[in-house]
This record gives sequence, structure tokens and C-alpha cells, in this order.
Amino acid sequence: MTQRLSGQVAVVTGGSRGIGEAIVRRLAAEGARVYATYHRSAERAQQLESELRAQGYAVQFLPANVASEEDVERCIEQIRREAGRLDILVNNAGVTLDRLLVRMTLQEWEEVIATNLRGAFLWSRAAVRLMLPQRSGRIINIGSVVGILGNPGQANYAASKAGLIGFTRALAKELASRNILVNCVAPGYVETAMTKQLPEAQRRALQEAVPLGRVAAPEEIAAVVAFLASPEASYITGQTIVVDGGMSI
Ligand code: NDP
Repeated sequence: MTQRLSGQVAVVTGGSRGIGEAIVRRLAAEGARVYATYHRSAERAQQLESELRAQGYAVQFLPANVASEEDVERCIEQIRREAGRLDILVNNAGVTLDRLLVRMTLQEWEEVIATNLRGAFLWSRAAVRLMLPQRSGRIINIGSVVGILGNPGQANYAASKAGLIGFTRALAKELASRNILVNCVAPGYVETAMTKQLPEAQRRALQEAVPLGRVAAPEEIAAVVAFLASPEASYITGQTIVVDGGMSI
């Protein structure tokens, strides 16, 4: 594996499983010191931390609800104290609470928006305070093709992911003069716990809608994140890179 991120400090929200776990593994393998957050999966986060440290990687898990301002501030303060800098923020943590609009509760709406959108706001605001004086940084938001295409039963999720695309563009313009690059990766259908919840018929239908004829592995999303975090992506900002096997063509 290339060491494109050697000497860099990264934080990945929701790194305990799924796409976030793959991103943690990939950034660490490329040489970054990685902080990752977990919320409910404490045991899994501990196992992952021990496994990766045993392999010689600098990975540390921190407990944090992404939607809690207090938790986010505590994590960023710890990173500032221990690492003294922050080069890469990956806003990955996300949830779905699917239901048709007429039956969707206000709580289901607000929980999805709070985790997926407020979380990205809180983390970005705190991270930028470390990145601004460095005059460098990368923020990578994990969106979804659903934020572009829409999907029945996912009004809350689609709104949060579409919101992330606008958030990405606004931040990219706001922070470009400080050499902080902000992009979004919008996956299609990826094999994780989030998609395992779907009924078998819906899974099959989704798969048939993908020109490449298969779902993505989390590692295929992590590879794009690592590229956007790397020096090779130095002239890309404000973009949403769709990684969906052609689903949105
Ligand atoms: P998983 O359900 O497998 O994992 C979700 C991750 O988010 C976990 O690490 C979880 O932590 C964390 N998380 C959830 N809620 C919170 C919270 N309130 N605070 C902190 N962390 C939280 O999801 P995926 O890996 O599939 O999804 C990752 C991202 O990719 C999400 O943003 C999702 O919307 C997006 N995505 C996924 C697609 C897919 O097909 N899987 C497609 C398109 C986008 P813990 O377990 O510790 O609670």
C-alpha cells in the first residue's frame, strides 16, 4: 500500500463498522494516524482498535454521539491535545429510519437529520478550527445517491444526504482560500449492516438496477475517500463523486 497519508492526522466518524471501518483501515494503511468514533458499538470498536494496533497502525477509537455538540468538542480537544493537528475529517456516521412520509414520525425525521446532517456540521465546525491555522485540510462527507435520485420511504434520509451536497459546496467555497478542500462521496448500494436490513426482494431489485450487476464492497468506497484525502486530489473541491456501479446513469 502506498503511504500517501504518512504524517497526517485523520478523524473518521462512525468508524466502528461498515464503510467507516473500511475507511479507518484504508487511511491507517496509507500511513495516517487515525482517530475514529463509535456510538453504540463499544465492544466492536475496542476489538478493531486492538487488532489494528497489533498490526502497527496508529488507530484510536473515541466514544461520541455525532449529534452531540459536547461529545464533538471533547473529541476535537483530545485530538488537539494529543496530535496537535488535524488534516482529514471524514463525516461518515449515518442512520436510516425508513417510512413512507404519511407515517413518518417527527422523531424519525429529526433523528436522521440530527445524525446525518447536524453531525457533519458540528464535526466540520470543530475540525476547521484546527485546520484554519494550518492553512490545509480535507473534509470528506459521505453522502448517498439517494440524496440525488430520491427514494420512496426515505424522505428524511434523502433530505439529509441532499443537504450534505449543498453543505459540501458552501464549505468548499468558504474554505478554499485557506486550502481546505471539501468533497462528498455518494455511494450507491454497499454491503453493510445498513443495507442488510432491507427485505430480500428489495435487495434483489436494487442489485438489478446496478449496471455493474453487484453491490459495492465498503473497501471500494474507502478507496475513493483515501484518494480525496491524498495529495493527488489537490485540485478537487466542492464535488460530489458518485460511486454507485453506474446506478444513477
Ligand atoms: P452502518 O449502519 O454499517 O454503520 C453506521 C456507522 O455510523 C456505525 O459506525 C455507527 O456507530 C455510526 N453511527 C450511527 N449513529 C451514530 C451517532 N449518532 N453517533 C456516532 N456514530 C453513529 O452504515 P454504513 O457503513 O452502511 O454507512 C456509513 C455511511 O455511508 C452513512 O453515512 C450512510 O448513510 C452512507 N451510505 C451507505 C450506503 C450503503 O449502501 N450501506 C449507501 C450510501 C451511503 P455505532 O455502531 O458505534 O453506533
